[in-house]
Amino acid sequence: MIDPADVLAWYDREQRDLPWRRPGVTPWQILVSEFMLQQTPVARVEPIWLSWIERWPTPSATAAAGVADVLRAWGKLGYPRRAKRLHECATVIAIEHGDEVPSDVEVLLTLPGIGAYTARAVACFAYGQRVPVVDTNVRRVIARAVHGRADSPPSSRDLDDVATLLPEGPEAPRFSVAVMELGATVCTARTPRCGLCPLGTCTWRSLGYPAASAPARKVQRYAGTDRQVRGRLLDVLRGSSSPVSRDQLDVVWLTDPAQRDRALDSLLIDGLVEQTADGRFALAGEGS
Ligand code: SF4
Repeated sequence: MIDPADVLAWYDREQRDLPWRRPGVTPWQILVSEFMLQQTPVARVEPIWLSWIERWPTPSATAAAGVADVLRAWGKLGYPRRAKRLHECATVIAIEHGDEVPSDVEVLLTLPGIGAYTARAVACFAYGQRVPVVDTNVRRVIARAVHGRADSPPSSRDLDDVATLLPEGPEAPRFSVAVMELGATVCTARTPRCGLCPLGTCTWRSLGYPAASAPARKVQRYAGTDRQVRGRLLDVLRGSSSPVSRDQLDVVWLTDPAQRDRALDSLLIDGLVEQTADGRFALAGEGS
């Protein structure tokens, strides 16, 4: 078991000062941070989030922006479909929910771009609800401290697993963010810093750190991938206030024309890019 008192006292001392955790941040702004933090490190998210919420502090303000403006503001955070889904989410909240982010997990799950993790994260961090929130950091801490394993793949048992650890009462949301913080900063995937760990007991450590049964996941490379090509194509379109020709796009990736064509097709299919009547290309919403 994990003693909540250990984790909470540690969190009070060691938590990072992240802007979306400060007083006065609204549920919408927390939701924006959760969209941005999916697969993107805090250091890259922080400046984009700050300028984003200054420009578009509410769902209706975001919904009123063009998709192209949202894609430009997303900058180089990567996985730009998230930006489009965030815009769609803002639109639904503005129109159907009176510009207020719903607090109910089941309602949150009906919104564009919101999955099991994000729905519970918003309910917990924005509304202080006692709901289990499980990301890779939480899953790893519990795998190690409770189950004595190096890590665990996602499982249908995760939510129940975490729910049994949640303290009763108002400490539950803070306990959730504290365990997440512990996994992000101390009990990291590759080099856990057990000397700094606040947990009184850890089964994995007691067992002598048995090796993982599955090989460690390879770090995803970026160079040379379709993601990189998509990023380069979007850079051209973000930097232009008018549609661009095919030639202007082709020059960004000359090494593999088939890969470039595939990347451009995928941007069109994702609705991030559109083609004008005369065959040029533009960010979504700027092609007519
Ligand atoms: S003792 Fe080490 S492995 Fe166990 S939870 Fe703490 S940091 Fe992770």
